[in-house]
Amino acid sequence: MRISARGPEASAALAALQRLIEESEPEEVFSGEPAHGWAPLAAGATVRGLAAAPGLAIGPVRLLRQRKIVVARCAKDPERERQRLGEALSMARAELQELYQEVRERSGPAGAAIFLAHAEFLSDPELLARADRRIARDESAGWAWRETIEEEAESLSKLDDPLLASRATDLRDAGTRVLRRLGGVIEEKAELPREPVILLAEDLTPSDAAGLDPARVLGFCTAGGGPTSHAAIIARSLEIPAVVGAGPAVLHQRDGVPAVLDGDNGILYIDPSEEDLAAARAARSALVHPCDEEHRDRHEPAVTTDGVRIEVDANAGLAKEASQAVAAGGEGVGLLRSEFLFLERDTAPSEEEQYAAYREAAEALGGLPLIVRTLDAGGDKALPYLPMPAEENPFLGVRGIRLCLARPELFRTQLRAIFRAAAHGSIKILYPMVSDVAELREALAITEEVRREMGAGRLETGIMIEVPSAVAMASELAGLVDFFSIGTNDLAQYVLAMDRGHPLLARQVDGLHPAVLRMIDQTVRAAAGKGTRVGVCGGVAGEPLGALILIGLGVTELSVSIPSIAAIKARIRNVSMADAQGLARRALACESVEAVRALGKG
Ligand code: PEP
Ligand code: MG
Repeated sequence: MRISARGPEASAALAALQRLIEESEPEEVFSGEPAHGWAPLAAGATVRGLAAAPGLAIGPVRLLRQRKIVVARCAKDPERERQRLGEALSMARAELQELYQEVRERSGPAGAAIFLAHAEFLSDPELLARADRRIARDESAGWAWRETIEEEAESLSKLDDPLLASRATDLRDAGTRVLRRLGGVIEEKAELPREPVILLAEDLTPSDAAGLDPARVLGFCTAGGGPTSHAAIIARSLEIPAVVGAGPAVLHQRDGVPAVLDGDNGILYIDPSEEDLAAARAARSALVHPCDEEHRDRHEPAVTTDGVRIEVDANAGLAKEASQAVAAGGEGVGLLRSEFLFLERDTAPSEEEQYAAYREAAEALGGLPLIVRTLDAGGDKALPYLPMPAEENPFLGVRGIRLCLARPELFRTQLRAIFRAAAHGSIKILYPMVSDVAELREALAITEEVRREMGAGRLETGIMIEVPSAVAMASELAGLVDFFSIGTNDLAQYVLAMDRGHPLLARQVDGLHPAVLRMIDQTVRAAAGKGTRVGVCGGVAGEPLGALILIGLGVTELSVSIPSIAAIKARIRNVSMADAQGLARRALACESVEAVRALGKG
């Protein structure tokens, strides 16, 4: 290929092009034979689209609800609006530069290049001039910007060339990044559930796709998009099976319905039979782990090279995940987030329904431990059938154990279900969000009352350590319970005073921050004084570096997402406790989270 250029900046342009070509990796469009031999036996509901990233994903579907950003139409001071737009543009460009670096490190320059193209959109003089003319007519910066982007995206999407037409999505994505900064009433995208799902969406922008966490998004299926879209490219680099261009039927599926997404053939199978689900699981596991050492050894215990055994359990949201946890090598369920049974419904689950769910999980575990966390609602998990006064700061409001104590009938029903299910396995009770000794005493007293009423045996009881006051009082609290389970997700949010769902701050809510690690260290020491076991069930436990630091700090049980179990066990088998302790000491001495994370690279 010969490229020539003319004009005053010809040599700079040629050098930039040369660099881009040299750095680019061939961007393959996925096609070819399916890598698995799976096809359903029974023909059920299917949604057909285009194969975008290979693999089989199996799990409940979940629609990504994208809400609009609302902006005021008029503004009085054009100068001020110009300044606001300028600031929003510079911040968005800086964000894109950062995203480019991040994705480049993770997936290579081909996947990352799109973010440079987005930054180019934001510097396009023609677009900027059009927005400026609108501002001069007393439109607000947000309105002027959105209208300009929409007009341009509309005309791009009408072009015959599909490649140019697909740029409309990119332009809207880049435009939205600016819009989010322009005040007005901003409604952010709904948060993804914490448990793994197959994501359904109208379309995914490259920014959406780059932000997908493969531990939580098993696969995705979009109504729009094409196999060469950047969302598809990013899905392939993240190894997330994907189907695109499947039409509006994607948007009409009920949340939570089980499905199999076949990324090789571009088909989403809705609510397949149990038999088909089992066959798909077998095909997927042959696909994912053909000769994978970690997977092969997943049922072996996690013992350090100097002989210290660490229990690795699973976090589960639904009772039926207990069997998946065992199949993945979990030594129990270290956290059953029982609130998932309470969400997205019109009435609270009855005692009978809860009993059936806890019993199902306990039986699937065949005697392995099951830690049922009592209802952790409130905060970001509102229950429509439990109207509570509106709160300015729901994360600092009536959530977790506070809600259970405020609604003792709800708490008692759950406790009764737990005590009944305990006859079928090894169940322990865990109270969330405990922040105070008196509160724990009250929860324990209610539990004891229910136990007596039922004539049931005593169950081991623990508390989540996820609030700074609980750390400060850890010694007193440890004297009252059998175990602690540290929730690093919330602990980081409360220690760092940053909302874990905040659009700008959430990235910094990192459980490996030395401030959080020092809290964990303090907790472990206080618990050791009382002979209370300490586990961690927050996200940090599922990261290889996090797991090593935690065991080095003296944590003896880790509860992680199901897909992380084998890798975490393998990591522990490769380290000595002496080295983990050295790593933990170095982490505690760090002055920033970056310094802690750098320890993982050395
Ligand atoms: C935590 O806070 O770390 C935790 C495990 O609980 P959740 O993420 O459910 O709040
Ligand atoms: Mg929590």
